[in-house]
Amino acid sequence: MNKKYIIAFDQGTTSTRTIIFDRKGNIQGISQKELSQHYPESGWVEHDPNEIYNDQKETFETVLKDTGILPEDIAAIGITNQRETTVVWDKETGEPIYNAIVWLDNRTKSICQTLKNDGLGTYVREHTGLVIDAYFSGTKLKWILDNVPGARKKAEVGQLLFGTIDSWLIYKFTNGKQHVTDHTNASRTMLYNIKDLKWDDTLLAALDIPKSMLPEVKTSSSNFGSVTYKNINIPIYGVAGDQQAALFGQGGSQAGIAKNTYGTGCFILLNNGKDYVTSKNGLITTLTCTLPKEPVNYALEGSVFIGGASIQWLRDKLLLIKDAKETEAICNSIPPLKDLYVVPAFAGLGAPYWDANAKGAIYGITLDIGKNEIIKATLEALAYQTKDVIKAMEEDSGKALTTLKVDGGASANNYLMQFQCDILDVAVDRPKMIEITALGAAMLAGLKAGIWTNKDIESIREVDRIFIPKMDIKTRNQKYTGWLSAIKRTKTFNEA
Ligand code: ADP
Repeated sequence: MNKKYIIAFDQGTTSTRTIIFDRKGNIQGISQKELSQHYPESGWVEHDPNEIYNDQKETFETVLKDTGILPEDIAAIGITNQRETTVVWDKETGEPIYNAIVWLDNRTKSICQTLKNDGLGTYVREHTGLVIDAYFSGTKLKWILDNVPGARKKAEVGQLLFGTIDSWLIYKFTNGKQHVTDHTNASRTMLYNIKDLKWDDTLLAALDIPKSMLPEVKTSSSNFGSVTYKNINIPIYGVAGDQQAALFGQGGSQAGIAKNTYGTGCFILLNNGKDYVTSKNGLITTLTCTLPKEPVNYALEGSVFIGGASIQWLRDKLLLIKDAKETEAICNSIPPLKDLYVVPAFAGLGAPYWDANAKGAIYGITLDIGKNEIIKATLEALAYQTKDVIKAMEEDSGKALTTLKVDGGASANNYLMQFQCDILDVAVDRPKMIEITALGAAMLAGLKAGIWTNKDIESIREVDRIFIPKMDIKTRNQKYTGWLSAIKRTKTFNEA
């Protein structure tokens, strides 16, 4: 195998990118396009599936042109994508019958309530690992069938296909030859049985979804078809949802490894090994990237809705900073906080609290509190929220975490990373490569292409910095107890 490069398609919520990696895992080129967001009604979020495909194609062609790298030198493509986002298209024409309904969209809250009222909560948890929520694809797909004129009839005679963004892109890039997805994406639909690894007939019946619409589910590192460019066929050898791809890129194919991506929200995943465990502490269970001939592993996952978004709030609404980067120096310039907490429940509270009605609050303000203290407390809230989720993971898995691997925009902040490690009392390990999600998808493809072995991919991830806990136990406990009390008060305010 003398081909030199692997390509990653990274289709995210706000942008579509193509990245070329060389055999050492270094980036040789990136092309990116912003994705238009559509908000037809309050709580609704849509994307145009054709824009997504066209942008992916354009960035792919641009990055090849810009770098001068030839298609014949590309060994394989790996795809990573925003998860749960739902597309339904016509099998004959390849045209979507409705916009993609984005994971953030909560128009199907009432369908979820009906499923809960029908007593399906336990079934969903035990078979899909998820909680019934508008976040996952199943109810979005049902909404399209119920609301687009003629859709249900067409679906019943096998004329419509469903896919998450990976399936949609592969269908388009292979000219309709492949209707496939991988285990990680299937596990976010609320229609996939993650114990038996098959579509779940009970849930398909409950949501009235014809099985003929669903893609074939494959191992994350396997053959998904190929992209033809200038008469060269480049195989798609890797597919994974973004958070699972990041976990893989962080070396998380082994049990016991946990990662946190500090982006707009924080997404924390722990590879909990081969045994299927359902959470008793408000987390979900999901499949990690799967490899040929290896048993599937399950991850516990917790999402914090407002992570870096609270730093954007400091910048755009409170006008306290001009750039997120300033927060590190500000935090270092003032003494440790005493009993000051910002609870950024701006979109309710996610895992492990699941309080959709909670609103944000600041506790502990005294006359000496100024803008710098508010900034510091806002940043520290990312660390406290992460600790809440990790604590739940430790309780569910019965094991203490030793290291947290980190990535995402806010992981660049050294104050935050040190505080995170102090509050957790766990080492925090930050890699040099910031594009770890795309790298994870590239690794899946590179493994199948034979460019890399399991050993190689371990050495591709290089450490930038390891943070070691320095805080004494008394301070840590005091600070975290204060945080829990702030959370408690936030919840009671809501109940009052
Ligand atoms: P996403 O993929 O969700 O768009 P990114 O991984 O690009 O997010 O991270 C961007 C987020 O990280 C923004 O919300 C921003 O406020 C925050 N952020 C970026 N740099 C820093 C920093 N140095 N300190 C704190 N927060 C930061």
